[in-house]
Parts: sequence; C-alpha cells; structure tokens
Amino acid sequence: MTNTCIVIGASHAAAQLVTSLRQEGWQGDIKVIGDEPYLPYHRPPLSKDFLSGNKQADELLIRKAPIYEKNDIHFKLNQRVESIDRAHKTVTLSNGEVLVYDKLALCTGSRVRTVSLPGVELKGIHYLRNVQDIEAIQQHLVPGKKAVIVGGGYIGLETAASLKKQGMDVTVLEMAPRVLARVTAPELSEFYTRIHSEEGVNIKTGIAVSAFEGNQQVEKVVCADGSSFAADLVVIGVGIVPNVELAEAAGLQVNNGIVVDEYARTNDPDIVAAGDVTNHPNAIYNIRLRLESVPNATDQAKSAAASLCGKEKLYSSLPWFWSDQFDLKLQIAGLSQGYDQVILRGDKDKGRSFAAFYLKEGKLISADCVNRPQEFMFSKRLITEGKDVNVQQLADETVAMKDLL
Ligand code: FAD
Repeated sequence: MTNTCIVIGASHAAAQLVTSLRQEGWQGDIKVIGDEPYLPYHRPPLSKDFLSGNKQADELLIRKAPIYEKNDIHFKLNQRVESIDRAHKTVTLSNGEVLVYDKLALCTGSRVRTVSLPGVELKGIHYLRNVQDIEAIQQHLVPGKKAVIVGGGYIGLETAASLKKQGMDVTVLEMAPRVLARVTAPELSEFYTRIHSEEGVNIKTGIAVSAFEGNQQVEKVVCADGSSFAADLVVIGVGIVPNVELAEAAGLQVNNGIVVDEYARTNDPDIVAAGDVTNHPNAIYNIRLRLESVPNATDQAKSAAASLCGKEKLYSSLPWFWSDQFDLKLQIAGLSQGYDQVILRGDKDKGRSFAAFYLKEGKLISADCVNRPQEFMFSKRLITEGKDVNVQQLADETVAMKDLL
C-alpha cells in the first residue's frame, strides 16, 4: 500500500517540503497542486532582478524539473484546490477532479491586499505578487514615462528602485508619515528617504490616494488632499493577506493564519501547514506570529515534512529578512516590535552603510544592517543567545562585532 501526500500551493514552502519529505524517508506518492502555471520559483527577485530585467523567468526556478522527476514528485499546475473534505480525506480541484490523501500539507501562502478605489480597474494599474504581474508591469516600463508606486513598504521601495534604474520617472505615495513605518525605526525611514531622493525618486509621505483617473489607461493618481500625480504606470504594494479560506472552510483552526504548533502541525493530525500562511509559535520571542519571508517558509517546511513522517523536528529559528534597493543590501535579524532603544553604528546621514540595533530592556532583539554583513551575522547570534550587550561598544565602530559576543 502506498500512502499519498498532497501539497497545496507550489512555491517556497512547497518546494522545500517535498524535498525534505523524501529526505525524511517518505516512500509514498507526492502530489503538488499549484494554481500558478510554473514550478515553484523564487519570489523575492520579482521586485528586484526580474523587474530590472537582469533575470529571466526560467532563472527563477527554485529547482529544475528533473530534480522533482528524480524524486518522483508530481505537479498539477494551473489547478486550484477548491475544497478539502477531512472526513473522507479528499481534495477537490478546480477541474472537478477528486484526489485522495493520507497526509495533507497546506502551503497556500498569501495574496496581495487589494484596494477598492475608484478607477482601480484602469489599464496600467498593477499589483506585484507573481511572474505574470511583472510581465504586465514590464509592458508599461518605458524610460522617461511616469510610474507611481502606492505604498512605501519594502515591496514599494524595491519596485521604485528597479523602475528608476530603468529610467522611469518614479513617485512613491505613502499614507503613513514615513516610509517603512510598520517595520523599522524612524532612522531607517530617514535613511531610505534620503537614498531614494538622491537617486531621483520622488517620495511623498502622509498622503492618501483616493482615486485613479484616465480614459481606459491610467493617466492620473488623485489624492485625498486634492493633489494629483500624472501616471503611465501604477504599482500598488499595500501588504498581503494569508490564504486561509480553504483551511477555514475545512474546519481547521485559523487566527491570522492557520494555527500550527512548533512542529508545523495543525489541529488535524494528518494535516500540516508551512510558510506565509501559518500562525506559529516562536520560542525566541515567546509569541505567536505570522511571517512573510522565505527563510520562514523553508525552515518551517522542513519541520512540516518531518511531522508528516511521524517525527518531531522543532521549528525555532530567528526570523530574518532582506531587501535590495539600488546598491543597498539590507539584512534584518529578528523582530523589532516592542523595542525601547535604538543604537546606530555608522552614519545614516552620510554614505550607504550603517546598522541600527533595536534593544528592549537592555537586550538586543533585532538589527537592521545596511551593507553590513558582519553586523548582521553577529546580531543573529547575539539575539539568539540572548546575551547582554554593551551599548557603548555596539555603537563604537572601532570595536569588532565578534568582540561583543
Ligand atoms: P507563496 O509564495 O505565497 O505561495 C503560495 C502558493 O500557493 C501561490 O502560488 C498560490 O497561488 C498558491 N495557492 C494558494 N491557494 C491555492 C489553492 N487553493 N490551490 C492551489 N494553489 C494555491 N521574502 C524574503 O524573505 N525576502 C525578500 O526579499 C522578499 N521579497 C519579496 C518580493 C516580492 C515582490 C514578493 C511578492 C515577496 C517577497 N518576499 C520576500 C516574501 C516571500 O516571497 C514569501 O514569504 C514567500 O513566497 C512565501 O512562500 P510560501 O510558499 O509560504 O507562499
């Protein structure tokens, strides 16, 4: 008798989960159902190298087809799973096909948050989540033409940098008083505003978009304060929402993500979940959280695969992220929420390299490191090990990071 594992979603979490399943010794069938037309691909380059034209779609694949074939992993692409019947252990696909599973993995990730403003259906207005979005954006990518980015988060700023590098006239409109307000300290926002301005990107904060205007094709972005911005292309990047509906309809526990334990197990012993879609515990911060990052998707998928094979592999990693804009590589170690002190190493007002350390009650909880790989690497260790840090030394560039350990 062969057991069947069905994986829903075909992206970062799924690609890792199926590979780890074989490594953990899963002997049965593995079927992956994905609603995009591609094998799992790297999503981060979409707003970076792919949008900039430095990478082609086939260079984005996480693994090439022969690797899956060799491991006897079967994909059904361009198919959605419409429902899960946990009592009969079946899933129903959009083409009506019903598949039986013994074990099920939910790797459904997230989708863009949409806005319902007048004119949002005009041509030239796009979101950014998948390869097709980029291909559509590229149709309007003409040097000298005007691009307006709605949202000054990481996706918005990366998109602005990529479009600017290709000669577009770029404006970023951010509703909050500063860019990256949700995720960083004001010092980082000031730094990125300066760099974008130096590169020629027009950043406007504290401004709310109220409508889009044009005759079929977008021509103008109108704001609540009465101002407006000419636009040939609009990219909206205002966050994401987890794809939890399938799990919710199947009666799985959902609360800002599919609720899983530290082994990626849901409240159904035959179902795991991994990636953007999960709400999971983090032992380092002693909280439950939902993360939107590739390292989270891949690390958690390894635990999920072990669980499917009846083993226990603890998922307890320090969250980390990155963002590439112009020549700046930002690496983020940990989560800064709840910080009460920010220490800077390097000068954020000059040059293009510095680090911001976030402390809470004297302990390092997070670090934003711009073109500072050493600071990033040692911060990860300092946070994970929960060591006390000397604030003066942290700010002192003459003290090597390794000496802080
Ligand atoms: P997803 O990648 O969201 O994949 C889920 C897949 O499941 C999708 O293909 C979805 O269509 C499919 N699906 C959903 N429901 C169904 C269904 N019912 N049936 C079939 N298929 C279904 N992270 C970083 O760490 N660093 C970065 O620099 C970075 N940059 C990014 C830039 C961009 C432009 C974007 C969009 C994301 C970026 N991220 C970055 C975030 C990162 O891509 C995500 O955290 C990661 O993709 C999560 O992987 P996942 O497998 O959990 O989910």
